[in-house]
Amino acid sequence: MTDIIHLLPDSVANQIAAGEVIQRPASCLKELVENSLDAGATHIRVIVRDAGRTLLQVVDDGKGMSPTDARMAFERHATSKIAQASDLFQLRTMGFRGEALASICAVAQVELQTRRPEDEIGTLLEIAGSEVTRQEPVQCPVGTNMRVKNLFYNVPARRKFLKTDQTELRNLLAEYHRIVLVNPDVQFTFVSNDEILSELPVGTTKQRIEAVFGHSSKPFTGQLVDVSTRTELVNICGFVGKPESAGKNSQQYMFVNGRYMRHPYFHKAVMTAYAGMLQPDHNPSYFIYFDIHPDAIDVNIHPTKTEIKFADEQAIFQILLASVREALGKFNVAPSLDFTTESRLDMPQMALGNRSFAIPQIQTDPNYNPFKSQNWRSNHVSQPWERLYDNIPCPASAQEPEPITPLFTLPQIGDDTPLLQSQGKYIVVPADGGLLLVHQHRAHMAVLYRELAEQLRSHHGITQPVLFPEVIELSPDDLHTLQSLLADLQAVGFILEQFSPNAYSITSVPALLGQQNASETLLQVIHQVQDTGSTASDEWQKTVALSLADRMAIPVGKTLTDNEMRDLLRRLLQHTDSRYLPNGQTIFTILTNDDLQKYF
Ligand code: ADP
Ligand code: MG
Repeated sequence: MTDIIHLLPDSVANQIAAGEVIQRPASCLKELVENSLDAGATHIRVIVRDAGRTLLQVVDDGKGMSPTDARMAFERHATSKIAQASDLFQLRTMGFRGEALASICAVAQVELQTRRPEDEIGTLLEIAGSEVTRQEPVQCPVGTNMRVKNLFYNVPARRKFLKTDQTELRNLLAEYHRIVLVNPDVQFTFVSNDEILSELPVGTTKQRIEAVFGHSSKPFTGQLVDVSTRTELVNICGFVGKPESAGKNSQQYMFVNGRYMRHPYFHKAVMTAYAGMLQPDHNPSYFIYFDIHPDAIDVNIHPTKTEIKFADEQAIFQILLASVREALGKFNVAPSLDFTTESRLDMPQMALGNRSFAIPQIQTDPNYNPFKSQNWRSNHVSQPWERLYDNIPCPASAQEPEPITPLFTLPQIGDDTPLLQSQGKYIVVPADGGLLLVHQHRAHMAVLYRELAEQLRSHHGITQPVLFPEVIELSPDDLHTLQSLLADLQAVGFILEQFSPNAYSITSVPALLGQQNASETLLQVIHQVQDTGSTASDEWQKTVALSLADRMAIPVGKTLTDNEMRDLLRRLLQHTDSRYLPNGQTIFTILTNDDLQKYF
């Protein structure tokens, strides 16, 4: 009996593996340019012929390779970038698998010239079908010059699989754009059949976007607004298109830690921020750059996949949604938030004892209900969160504005704005027009309320499993109420399982709940919902959100650090549209300079 199992020759194994990594010229371009970036290049030239079929060359001025490394580089799993499995979680380079060059040389003829700055002389290497056919010293500039010729020359099936030159060139450029848009500090050149298709100087991200998509007659970035948010978890910056610039051909890009990614869930967050602002079939452009600790993401181990997993997707969804909304909101309502820009804005006055306090004018929809999702689709300029609190006195219509003298500008909380906490209860904030006195617990409630209302709508509450599930026993009345609230509770992160006919076990709680006792919180929610006497589910939702916000918010008496105060105030003032909570409680009040004067 003869054995029938044998090991494939390396050349065949390499060809099979190559199919995974190198599917078309564009994937080859990606691998080579990423290597150049990893090598610290400041200028990268891509030169293709016949859409990369006959030639795909990448020339860089990076750190080059020694003669031994040049040869090693084409071995499978040869990499200088990681040494052990744990390094995978600390990735700061584009490559790490050590299989790109091995794959490329299995399916093409490769010629490499490379020199390190410290070497007098460089190395020339020729490889075809994984076999080294030539290696010798060569005079060449510092850096690496990689010529990949006749891609798939030895794999006819792959060759046939390629599309027209036009399509393959489009794929090459798409891949090129995904790289250049996140590396504006590197100069790039793209040459196709001796024609320069792209020449990108070093610049800012915005300049790079302009250089890629702009036309001299029509600036592209004029249609973009800035997004910028820093949190402990993630920093998000970039640009989103103004709603009216949305169209059928939009440019949508997301990057994480310098790497292009596709992320349908985060895409949804962006699109949600545009709800109600876009015409049917119109899509906004966006360029969003995430910066996050490498620990918190899982770069897809599959070389050609651009999906990336995040440890805290739901939290990032919320942060992204809020920052895009803020960006769009600033652009839509920013002038009216700046009270000093005077009369061209219609500013309603809000009675405040004997003084007047201008609040930004907001277009209102009298039928608006933040909990009814269909309203989000209607075509308003203003945004749902602006109208979350429906007890704001608003002008009936936007008639001829009455010129008024604004008395007070809500302060921007800068890193050095001095803040004072009083009695563990109030925060005193200096502002140009006087002093802002903020009730810390209610301010936090307002922030949380907004967040919870959004979660109730989108079902994206952040939930946290509990180690020892509590069991909550209920009276028939309470049981009935709880059962009607189950879906809403789940939306904000409570997961309950029926334990017995009149008891539920609480297996997960909203992450926002912190150390609060879960069953007590639930009972409070149930009783407050019963107290409303309402049977309308959106009324319940409002009560659920408010009651939970009350439980979750910083308690009175808690001493806050400067940073905590700053963070709270920023979050509060970011979207302030009312000084009152939905239950009528005052969140902040204002002592104008005139008021202060009166005391002296
Ligand atoms: P990886 O990038 O995953 O490490 P590759 O097969 O793409 O694997 O490259 C193998 C090794 O070859 C790299 O780790 C690097 O040391 C070296 N290398 C490849 N391209 C370049 C380049 N342009 N400049 C300098 N070194 C390079
Ligand atoms: Mg690589």
